[in-house]
Amino acid sequence: METKFGDLPMYIGGEFVPSESGEWMDSVNPATGEVHGRVPAGTPADVDRAVKAAAKAQREWAKVSVFERGEIIRKLADAIQARADEVVQMEAADTGNTIASLGGDIYLAKQYLTFIAGLGIEMKGESVPATPNNIHFTMREPYGVVGRIVPFNHPFLFAAAHLAAPLIAGNGVVLKSPDQSPLSATLMAQICDEILPKGLVNIVSGVGHVVGDAIVRHPQVHRIGFTGSVPTGMAIQRSAAEVGIKHLSLELGGKNPFIAFPDADVDAVANAAVAGMNFSWSGQSCGSTSRLMLHESIYDAVVEKVVAKVKAIKLGDPMDTSSGMGPVNSEGHYRHVTSFFPDAEKEGATVLAGGKPADMSHLGDEFKNGFWVEPTVYGDVTMDMRVARDEVFGPILSIFKWSDPQEVIDMANDLDLGLTAAVWTNDLNTAMNAVKDIDSGLVWINGTGRHYMGTGFSGWKNSGLGREECLEEVLSYTRSKSVHIIL
Ligand code: NAP
Repeated sequence: METKFGDLPMYIGGEFVPSESGEWMDSVNPATGEVHGRVPAGTPADVDRAVKAAAKAQREWAKVSVFERGEIIRKLADAIQARADEVVQMEAADTGNTIASLGGDIYLAKQYLTFIAGLGIEMKGESVPATPNNIHFTMREPYGVVGRIVPFNHPFLFAAAHLAAPLIAGNGVVLKSPDQSPLSATLMAQICDEILPKGLVNIVSGVGHVVGDAIVRHPQVHRIGFTGSVPTGMAIQRSAAEVGIKHLSLELGGKNPFIAFPDADVDAVANAAVAGMNFSWSGQSCGSTSRLMLHESIYDAVVEKVVAKVKAIKLGDPMDTSSGMGPVNSEGHYRHVTSFFPDAEKEGATVLAGGKPADMSHLGDEFKNGFWVEPTVYGDVTMDMRVARDEVFGPILSIFKWSDPQEVIDMANDLDLGLTAAVWTNDLNTAMNAVKDIDSGLVWINGTGRHYMGTGFSGWKNSGLGREECLEEVLSYTRSKSVHIIL
């Protein structure tokens, strides 16, 4: 079958290849439901070839100075910029994220690579005065081959950015693309092919429990960096533990609180609450502040403004620069997101906007089989409802009313997740007390959404293990060796 993007091979050992199985998997355009490209359905044998290629190339890469590695990583960043238009076109078509928002992914990928490229010299050991006569020191060495597994919401950004830390630390990489939106990983493979030594980075496609699991279980992969859902993170921990001792970092889900105190500015809170939902990628962000907790004194005023803003979001073709939101990413995810609608109403939430699938027939017949839902706001949400507790990872904002400061902190912490949180107030004491009480790896005071490179990003509780976007991430791709010179 002819498709728009055709058959896009994997990248193993510096070659663009099909799977040894000869099987291909469809990639579907979520705006139309049509198959628009295919990628190989990889197997454990493909993973094995990729790991061996990475191991061979890594031995030479580890001998390259950190400055030269950094220089090469910066070249990756420049090459991404040079192909930005092509990347955003393919990414918008394959993910449903709006094309207008995807410039941000290119910017972040570049920023991430450039920032990490400069940190090589910081991979320092220590000199330890353990005895008076001898010399004792530690040095950091790469693991060898690192497995990186990425989710569907920003597949290109993750494929690019998540190479940086393993590479600067001297590792080779086998990266797995997500099966719902795998196409842009091929563009990253082409960029790697232009710039990196052959075999150093390998990009494989295929089903998670086959290809992802084969990466996790491979005996030559001792370090795995995973970004995705909590259940998959737990499955990876189980698989890893079954075959050996592996070093894992896990960036997982969130169900993040946004607490507005009585003194907060109503307009600013409403603007930030909508921005913090990331509707331009259909709310499909781990960091989205999807639980808006408003003090009763400002509840009605903020709700009115939030609802007006959400109703004004232009749901449309993600390829149209004027669209404010596109479809959700896949048919399976559409079923997950829409399953919240009957449950929320049954459990007593008030539908303030949306609350149903969207009819997009006005855009033309081709859009009628896409995975469209209306941007949705529920009011009167309480912590006993499913929409308050389960990660939607979609365009559904739940609004809670509170009166007592301890009550709102308890609501914020009443989940096994703890990724991000936002606190809105003009009182420093109120803000800092809330910051100290909230169980999450990141808190914005009077802000939302933005990542600040160098400061770190990590989940508490079931939201993750390890820390990214900072020096700690680079160091986590090294292991320490103690050396004793006996004099
Ligand atoms: P997912 O279902 O967990 O999948 C993530 C990746 O893991 C995909 O490549 C998937 O492959 C692969 N996978 C699935 N089963 C596997 C297994 N048994 N062993 C190894 N790999 C396996 O997550 P998703 O639905 O793509 O992404 C949404 C989730 O990611 C949300 O929970 C979101 O909060 C989280 N997320 C977290 C962050 C963060 O930084 N904390 C950032 C973005 C997203 P297939 O695609 O083939 O299934």
